[in-house]
Amino acid sequence: MTKQPTIAVIGAGLGGAAAGALLQRAGYNTRVYEQAPAFARLGAGIHLGPNVMKVMRRIGIEDKLNAMGSHPAHWFSRDGRSGEYLSRIPLGDFAREAYGAAYITVHRGDLHELMVGTLDQERLHFDKRLVDVDDSGDKVVMTFADGTTDEADLVIGADGVNSRIREKLLGPEAPIYSGWVAHRAIISAEKLKAYDLDFEACVKWWSEDRHMMVYFVTGDEKEYYYVTGVPEPEWNHGTSFVDSSREEMRKAFEGYHPTVQALIDCTETVTKWPLLERTPLPLWHDNRLVLLGDACHPMKPHMAQGAAMAIEDAAMLVRCLEEVGAGNYRDAFELYRTNRFERASRVQKVSHDNTWLRHDEDPAWVFGYDVYEVPLKQPQRT
Ligand code: FAD
Repeated sequence: MTKQPTIAVIGAGLGGAAAGALLQRAGYNTRVYEQAPAFARLGAGIHLGPNVMKVMRRIGIEDKLNAMGSHPAHWFSRDGRSGEYLSRIPLGDFAREAYGAAYITVHRGDLHELMVGTLDQERLHFDKRLVDVDDSGDKVVMTFADGTTDEADLVIGADGVNSRIREKLLGPEAPIYSGWVAHRAIISAEKLKAYDLDFEACVKWWSEDRHMMVYFVTGDEKEYYYVTGVPEPEWNHGTSFVDSSREEMRKAFEGYHPTVQALIDCTETVTKWPLLERTPLPLWHDNRLVLLGDACHPMKPHMAQGAAMAIEDAAMLVRCLEEVGAGNYRDAFELYRTNRFERASRVQKVSHDNTWLRHDEDPAWVFGYDVYEVPLKQPQRT
């Protein structure tokens, strides 16, 4: 292998786009393969905590994100029925000072477009669904659904919850349906003006078994977004999401606060997604293959940190390749796993329990993390 190996990233989601951008910036000959023919602006929002914004700084898009995103001064948790405040977590200026970067909420499609735009477009290949990998020779041979093949020295599986690379490493196994779904809707803030209610920049409405998280997805506060967690014993739709309805939302949030009812009244389209998980994987890499993001630790989205973990993984993986030298990829991959497993598994567990910021707590272990500054733990030799 040459000093700078060729690297293939499978999947151009948020984790794969981050990996591709960081590898290309570090000078690696990197190609990114995405199964989708193109990207659509999916109706969804996303939180980007200071831990992620530090990686965005490295990719070179922190300023653009700060300009496009909403900057909530607090994360509020409120009782879904009475509206009583359960927690007030300071963000805004406090986050910038205490954690070293801003806490923003943005439109997921805007973020994705910006990230994918930082990739070398000549080395970004759409409509390339990986169907097989052969890692038995000097190079990994990748076969795509269109019948073409390509080769790389190293292959990163950033191919999401149903990862083909994970399957190659560990065999076929469907993810676990958590028993909860998420409804997602974007609402025009113009419609909310009809109500004499306060629509806060970042608030989670809670009751015993369900919640609704609400925030703006644009800095101009024209688009407001909600995402829920609602129990539903089974998911038999066979698709990654289905349409939901205002009626279904009314039923799910009956008795909730008038502010939540107003959001439901203003809903035009709402989709419903199954929340999928896996228990922590026993293997993150083998020979020339390595996993990141939802491919190795999918989680319920209740900490708003799933993509954040994928992006942190990407940054740590590139850091470890630089640290060890990509020629020693096995050591680099093990150093990466050693420095990501505990944190990703902890975030998976807290997300599963859905306790994050429900009551006042110190979120510094999540938001204050700096993937570039954290001292590296060395793998235990056996
Ligand atoms: P994905 O985003 O799933 O990307 C995988 C990519 O690989 C896709 O583009 C896919 O098309 C492609 N692909 C798959 N198979 C193949 C193949 N065989 N060949 C080629 N390409 C392939 N996270 C946050 O940090 N903050 C939030 O606020 C937040 N909110 C969420 C709300 C909901 C309702 C849900 C469901 C999730 C939320 N998450 C959030 C979690 C976040 O969406 C995921 O953790 C994140 O998208 C994982 O990124 P990824 O790149 O690992 O995988």
